[in-house]
Amino acid sequence: SRREGFSTIPNVKWDDVGGLDRLRQEFDRYVVRRIKFPEYYEALGMDLETGFLLYGPPGCGKTLIAKAVANEAGANFIHIKGPELLNKYVGESELAVRTIFTRARTCAPCLLFFDEVDALTTKRGKEGGWVVERLLNQLLIELDGAEQRRGVYVIGATNRPEVIDSAVLRPGRFGKLLYVPLPSPDERGMILKAIARKKPIDATVDLMAIGKDTACKNFSGADLSALMNEAAMASLEEKLTLSSSSPLTIKVEHFERALVKISPSVSDKQIQYYK
Ligand code: ATP
Repeated sequence: SRREGFSTIPNVKWDDVGGLDRLRQEFDRYVVRRIKFPEYYEALGMDLETGFLLYGPPGCGKTLIAKAVANEAGANFIHIKGPELLNKYVGESELAVRTIFTRARTCAPCLLFFDEVDALTTKRGKEGGWVVERLLNQLLIELDGAEQRRGVYVIGATNRPEVIDSAVLRPGRFGKLLYVPLPSPDERGMILKAIARKKPIDATVDLMAIGKDTACKNFSGADLSALMNEAAMASLEEKLTLSSSSPLTIKVEHFERALVKISPSVSDKQIQYYK
């Protein structure tokens, strides 16, 4: 697999993302169009945030959105996993942070995505200890180098916004907070449709209806993706065991069988906590 921290243009399109229309609109205005039409933004004297924090329950599309933003903007994408920056020798973590920002500047326009950003930005004096504290200070230095940040956008993602040091959330840093919620019943249908784009779904299957089914209550996008895979597996098994001659498609009964097996990964208790 590709090495961490190197830039690519991701192959995720907005069409691959179900629901989340508000977030899409925000990122269109703040990032995508800004990269495509910098002269208009400049002419209109717009001074907008370049750092964002996506927060919310796991598996709801934070990574997917960040990739789609980079793809639609034609920008490079650098994916950093917070905890991996910590697993280094003393002093190396800070160097890694500097290197990442240097790399981002060289390949601007570039979107730097910090997954599990809470690992790097826990409140000072709390669980992190001095290693995190030094790393956090280095990160703040890089984020504040506004002049040098031209064409570099940062998106952080977290399931634990409450542990993040408030200094990180100031304007010019990860200044714009955006909540990525569990999907509504309609959005579940839209996510299923997005996931199904390249799959042979039988014409009689109504994905919007499946999304609204109470059996999908509290499902995240990741759970819906698991559901789709399970349904595909049921279709495959039928094909292989019955050697049926019918076309290889995913049918209503396959979804029914999958729904018995897949359950929500975010608990009721967690959902209360995110509200
Ligand atoms: P985590 O907090 O666990 O990192 P995340 O919010 O970043 O989760 P993603 O990695 O973006 O979640 O989503 C996991 C998978 O779930 C995606 O690869 C995709 O298959 C599916 N998925 C999640 N949300 C959506 C969505 N809104 N539309 C389409 N697919 C989705």
